[in-house]
Amino acid sequence: MSRARIPFLSLAPSDDAQEVRAAIDRVIARGWFVLGPEVEAFEAEFAEAMGGGRAAGVGTGTDALALILRGLGIGAGDEVITTPVSAAYTALAIVMAGARPIFADVDPDTLLIDPRRIEEAIGPRTRAIMPVHLYGQAADMAAIERIASRHDLAIVEDCCQAHLATAGGRPVGTIGAAGAFSFYPTKNLGALGDAGAVLTRDPALAERIRRIRNGGQTERYRHQEAGINSRLDEMQAAVLRARLPRLRDWTDRRRRLAAAYRRALAGAPVTLLAERDAGHVYHLFVARSPARDLLREHLAACGIETLIHYPVPIPRQPALASQAPAACPAADAACAEVLSLPLHPGLGDDAAMEVAGAIAAFAPRAAAPQRR
Ligand SMILES: *Cc1c(COP(=O)(O)O)cnc(C)c1O
Repeated sequence: MSRARIPFLSLAPSDDAQEVRAAIDRVIARGWFVLGPEVEAFEAEFAEAMGGGRAAGVGTGTDALALILRGLGIGAGDEVITTPVSAAYTALAIVMAGARPIFADVDPDTLLIDPRRIEEAIGPRTRAIMPVHLYGQAADMAAIERIASRHDLAIVEDCCQAHLATAGGRPVGTIGAAGAFSFYPTKNLGALGDAGAVLTRDPALAERIRRIRNGGQTERYRHQEAGINSRLDEMQAAVLRARLPRLRDWTDRRRRLAAAYRRALAGAPVTLLAERDAGHVYHLFVARSPARDLLREHLAACGIETLIHYPVPIPRQPALASQAPAACPAADAACAEVLSLPLHPGLGDDAAMEVAGAIAAFAPRAAAPQRR
């Protein structure tokens, strides 16, 4: 429990509380809890809201990524190129599928995977590229598509932070072979627990993933392949259906807050990440400072809660270090400097201005020598 005056997030249903409660009551009254009418309806509504194709509800965003790889036949002996700056789950999903993650460093201005570094990481075992639309901003999909088509690689989009984001006007998740979405409670569209979905325009891939998520069953008690158990449950699907109609407004609010932060922080002692695509949905608003830890303490003393996404580049995680020794200097530098500011649809303009004011007033002694 945070006791900050301006908490980083607030997860309790508020403007949507009534619809969420009605959805839960509806599921309880029906008495059907796994793979039923709510999941089926959510899959159709979510796919339509995200710009088309088919959706498959699954247990988590991590499972969605791993299931896409399995559905594409990518596994043992294969390599998948991804970014060092993301939730570690991106790379863990590659490991779950039996493949090996290879890390391509990020563009320091956006912290999105750098297409030039992808090109250098391609080898004879490379099967796919897994870009992450980090913080809500789409990766450079035009460049990634050119590389993928030149080398005959699949693109698997990690859309876990990017519901409704677009890349050059095209909805994320509809550009590559498939996209993975998470509805972890803190995401732009959050459930009241774990939940995820796959989005794809390929009906055969959607069908295969629906089978694998449910033990590989083709019909009840007939297991065609060794699938897993990763189903979206009816309660979460009903909650997500109640919230989905608000996502557009919530996203607009995030964009307005981000624009207000950008105006208010011009001239402040922090560097902001570049907005390269107007389709950015601002899952997170991230600033950089060489005195990051002192800035974080200063803000905490002002009653403002911040978080760090992410403190450790994925290839430096002990769990993944042996997988890929590749150097990612831009990721190393970024992870030492990034700080995520409070930004969520319930954050008021006054609170955002207070955050910006506190940052502007930050005068780190530790940073002084760098200004000589
Ligand atoms: C949250 C997240 C995941 C994992 O999603 P879960 O639903 O928590 O498994 C993967 N990638 C990114 C970029 C995320 O933000």
